[in-house]
Amino acid sequence: MVGLLIKNGTIVTGDSKTLIAGGTVLITGSRIEAVSRRSTRVTRVQEIDAQGKVVIPGIINHHAHGITCGPLFPSAAEPLSRDQVKKNLGAHLLQGTTTILCVDGFTTKEEVEHASKLTSMTVKAATIHTPKNLAAADAVDGAGLRNSNRKETAKSRLAQGAPALGEVGAGSTLGGGCQDYKYIPEAVKCETGREIDARQAMELKYAVLGRHIKREGFNADKVKKVLKDVGLSSLLTVNKAREIVEESVLPPFDLALEGFEEAYGIAVQCNVPAIFHNAAATKDKILEIAQAAGQNTRLIIAAHSNHDTFSLEEAVKHAKRLKDLGVIIDIASFDCFINRFFGEPPDIFYALLEAGLCDTVSTDYCAGHYDSILTALHFSIKKGLLSLSQAIGLVTRNVVDAIPRLAPNKGLLSEGKIADVVIVDEENLAKVETVIIGGEVVVRAGEIVQMTKTKPRPQDKEPHERAKGHHSLGKGI
Ligand SMILES: [Zn+2]
Repeated sequence: MVGLLIKNGTIVTGDSKTLIAGGTVLITGSRIEAVSRRSTRVTRVQEIDAQGKVVIPGIINHHAHGITCGPLFPSAAEPLSRDQVKKNLGAHLLQGTTTILCVDGFTTKEEVEHASKLTSMTVKAATIHTPKNLAAADAVDGAGLRNSNRKETAKSRLAQGAPALGEVGAGSTLGGGCQDYKYIPEAVKCETGREIDARQAMELKYAVLGRHIKREGFNADKVKKVLKDVGLSSLLTVNKAREIVEESVLPPFDLALEGFEEAYGIAVQCNVPAIFHNAAATKDKILEIAQAAGQNTRLIIAAHSNHDTFSLEEAVKHAKRLKDLGVIIDIASFDCFINRFFGEPPDIFYALLEAGLCDTVSTDYCAGHYDSILTALHFSIKKGLLSLSQAIGLVTRNVVDAIPRLAPNKGLLSEGKIADVVIVDEENLAKVETVIIGGEVVVRAGEIVQMTKTKPRPQDKEPHERAKGHHSLGKGI
């Protein structure tokens, strides 16, 4: 069996506390054989010198969109092209992600398996195949739903190995970012022939519905001002603009909120976590569910709790209340650090870290302009908000704890775990040098050297799927 020895690096094991300077990680086959403080003498191994580098477990990103050719977003929009999906998967891999969860929600098992064949990462998908969530998707879009997507149920997808419910609600169904960069600009273009960008659509949406997405949020003067700023005054009246925004945002809104209860009920019945779209518009609903959840609050994941619809004070207060109840608090890198597609700074991200409220970090999507998880962690460490080991724990072991079926036997550098290992630059964590998945080097010197899996990895499957596989094999023979 081929061995791989990573030596001289700063090893961060993923348990949020252990850091070993100048240690070694020995990989044999697809597993980690040893992690030690001293350099071990081993023969017949390939060596990687990680001097000046940090060695971490592969990142587990549990909140991504656009990584399968299935319906896009919880609004079930037309799927992305295969080329775009490949590009998106490649980008995540180069950012040090080794396990990724698609939270578009309506994918089939076959669509996830197809995506999995396009990358060396482990790809899984959450499910929101429930009647209300489906109705919410149809109310805003639904163009990506084939019969195969419609006939699944959340329970059938969970039985096939989906590790969580989610994303329950989303920007597209609850007046968030996806409305800004997709649906509102499309509706405005349809009416006026003019293009507006995401920022402009967001301003218009806030003027019509406020940050909490309510009809009472309407402010005619603000709408008038936005129309003037955007250059649409001659093409749209205030009332027409209101109508366009309301018709784009509101039809799925109540259905999506009812979908929260439905998804939570299934989460409890099946004992799997549910990933809820946490934003100003959904905060009361999540709180209501969490307050009634008792022991089951650990099944509630409040996604991207730094959502830009919250004010900073509101986000911190809300996250604290949820955290006190036992809810898992996730924050998203979004585009706040470098890409700045929407232009929002990472203030809420930092504030939630500073308040010690965060359990996990993910990317979300931002029309594909999200910053990498390691970029977000790098800046947070530089600001003194996290130690290196705390930062890495948020995206490895903590995610495994939150969603156990997503990455069994991963998320830690320790003996017997699956050898998903990432080596990054010590000075700039976001600079990913090497990615090893299941013991195989797939990124070297920051470039993908192995795009797809060379062989199926049995460890990617759920234990019951493996058992079922053996069983059917026996029957076939
Ligand atoms: Zn969301």
